[in-house]
Amino acid sequence: MMALGDSMAEQNNSNPAPVASPAASLEGAVETAADLEKRALGWCHTARFRTTASQLDQLPQIELPEIAFVGRSNAGKSTAINTLTQQKRLAFASKTPGRTQHINLFDLGPKIIPNSIFADLPGYGYAAVARGAKLRWQKVMADYLAVRRSLIGVVLMVDSRLGFTDLDQQLMSFVAPRVGNGAVKLLVLLTKSDKLNRTEANTALASAQAVLGEITTDEADVGVALFSALKKSGVGDAAQVLHSWVHPAA
Ligand code: GDP
Repeated sequence: MMALGDSMAEQNNSNPAPVASPAASLEGAVETAADLEKRALGWCHTARFRTTASQLDQLPQIELPEIAFVGRSNAGKSTAINTLTQQKRLAFASKTPGRTQHINLFDLGPKIIPNSIFADLPGYGYAAVARGAKLRWQKVMADYLAVRRSLIGVVLMVDSRLGFTDLDQQLMSFVAPRVGNGAVKLLVLLTKSDKLNRTEANTALASAQAVLGEITTDEADVGVALFSALKKSGVGDAAQVLHSWVHPAA
């Protein structure tokens, strides 16, 4: 398994072409780690709402690399998206009644020519949800993760105090074949890490790594990191990972 910032697995040819990084053409320019983080956060900040859909076949086919955000309800997914994009209410749409089961798409990059998409997928595992709705969720998620052609990466939010639940594992199984062959990259954010002390944080990280080891292959690009929206820790690193998925030259 790769740690954050390690080199990446090869791009799968069936995915949309990665976007060339403008800074890569600045000859001789030496970028510091701080510059890279700033650029990645700046790119995340450009996110704006594009469209919403309740079924996969209603989602537009967009020839742009797409990164999906998934996680149990209450795992901190909306907060993580808002923090990464430095926008207070971006993921708010996903919380409005009637839209909680929707897939919400956001454009990133220059206004006229977006270069990538964030997809906020429905939260799962909410106890009060009826069986029918749970089955429907399964189908939407399984279909999306297994067949969405432009999908290049998945960010899975897991509450650092709870670790992977059965539903998280089930969700990973939907995308595991594409992660295993390197077509889709995976970043697990262990959220709300501010609630853990150092020992607990290390334990959470080690247990997550053990679980991820099971789906990791030579081709896979799988990362895991502690994340706190409250303390703003792990935010710059996560932004850089996502930026590098879309801009491999950076
Ligand atoms: P979602 O259902 O996965 O979108 O979860 P939310 O983003 O709505 O967060 C669920 C709850 O966790 C809210 O009460 C948030 O304020 C809280 N939360 C989210 N991120 C953090 C964090 O980094 N630290 C702490 N302490 N609480 C957080």
